[in-house]
Amino acid sequence: MDEHVIRTYQRAEEVFVAGHGATLVDRDGKEYVDFLAGIAVSALGHAYPPLVEALRDQVGRVVHLSNLFRHPYTEQAAARLAELTGLEASFFTNSGTEANEAALKLARKWQKDQGRPERVSFVALHGAFHGRSMGSLSCTHTEKYRKPFEPLLPVTFVPPDDIDALAAALRTTRPAAFLCEPVQGEGGIRELSSAFLVAARELCDETQTLYVHDEIQCGTGRTGRFLASQWSAVQPDVVTLAKPIAGGLPMGVMVVRNELADVFRPGDHGSTFAGGPLVCRAALVLLDALENGLLDTVQARGAQLRAGLEALARRFPRITEVRGRGLMLGLRLADGAPELQKRLHGLGLLVNCTAGDVIRIVPPFVITEAEVERGLDLLAQGLASLD
Ligand SMILES: *Cc1c(COP(=O)(O)O)cnc(C)c1O
Repeated sequence: MDEHVIRTYQRAEEVFVAGHGATLVDRDGKEYVDFLAGIAVSALGHAYPPLVEALRDQVGRVVHLSNLFRHPYTEQAAARLAELTGLEASFFTNSGTEANEAALKLARKWQKDQGRPERVSFVALHGAFHGRSMGSLSCTHTEKYRKPFEPLLPVTFVPPDDIDALAAALRTTRPAAFLCEPVQGEGGIRELSSAFLVAARELCDETQTLYVHDEIQCGTGRTGRFLASQWSAVQPDVVTLAKPIAGGLPMGVMVVRNELADVFRPGDHGSTFAGGPLVCRAALVLLDALENGLLDTVQARGAQLRAGLEALARRFPRITEVRGRGLMLGLRLADGAPELQKRLHGLGLLVNCTAGDVIRIVPPFVITEAEVERGLDLLAQGLASLD
């Protein structure tokens, strides 16, 4: 009965009707270990009791108000984000794309306010994924996503970790902003080096370029710290978050440093739905969990998973690389990644294949030791079946 749904995705055969923790259940009652979390979203797993309780309660109070009115949960969520990121002020959105779109608009307005109205272009990285709206798509590198929609905004792409290429692009094109993902997600779970992030900070300062970290996939605790950039002690001017931030409800946010908090004046930008009481209540449940030990769990389960993947890499020569950090891991294969994904679904393990040759592993943060073990067993079975 899917003929009325526009086919922008190749959907899998399985139909899931329920879940608990990092386990999903299909309509025949078969259980699957969830190493995908709805594309790095469901950080609290499925049917996480404190989230269920908070949402039930909130639905019975008030779901939506619009941004014409204040609400305590919106303000609490923004205050907690300021504390956790070391930045100052939040603009809430309904998705990652919208958070990046806000950052692009902010960058242009900031440059104008600074008396540099000619600085309207952007610099981003090969392999970057920043979203699908006209602005965020312009900064997304993948040719097949871009081509049908050109002309796009002027964006110069440079290779990741190439400090000289970045310096040249910033000095010659004089963009409004430089955007990067500290760990590229769609690009194949590719972690940028600390040296590159540090150099990018200095180059952006030197060239008066706004420095934007897209931590929509790698942030909000996924690597075991609240921001992936905190492993390198690099502070951007703007960070965008989304995917896991409201435990599976649609929410994104752009967080900016103090000096940028007043770039958007009343009327400059907006959203009807964003930052409402329901999603902000969900975000507070996630942020509470992170502050009450969940970041440690991410590190512990991440270490367990990585050790397991490295053992598999020694056993199966098809695996050419284990990548990533915390619970954002990738298994790069010499061949057969799409086929492996399909077989793993059949065996009861949900993963996806990204950048053509990388099995992406981004489970819920609440995944248990036993679920990780079971997932690794299934992965071994899947790999063995390819030989
Ligand atoms: C998913 C993703 C986006 C887009 O987020 P949506 O919520 O799908 O709009 C942008 N940037 C990165 C790094 C992402 O992983």
